[in-house]
Amino acid sequence: MSFGDICYIYQAALYCDSCGSEIKQRLKDESKRPKDWRDEDSYDSDEYPKGVVIDQAGFTETEHCEGCGEVIYEVEDEDDGGW
Ligand SMILES: [Zn+2]
Repeated sequence: MSFGDICYIYQAALYCDSCGSEIKQRLKDESKRPKDWRDEDSYDSDEYPKGVVIDQAGFTETEHCEGCGEVIYEVEDEDDGGW
């Protein structure tokens, strides 16, 4: 994970950038892409993946991609011994 990376929310699950892109491609191939797919406010994340900037998503716990299991966001343990 690096600054500015994005992930996707789709049907209440989180996906990494590459899995989210695959889903978008699949929906496009199946002609299930929303009419205004470029406008994320026009559709629901149940219909089509919505991109989220990881740094701005406000995750509070470690999150994995539903597709490939990759760690999307990792909580750094601040209590592992300290100083
Ligand atoms: Zn993935």
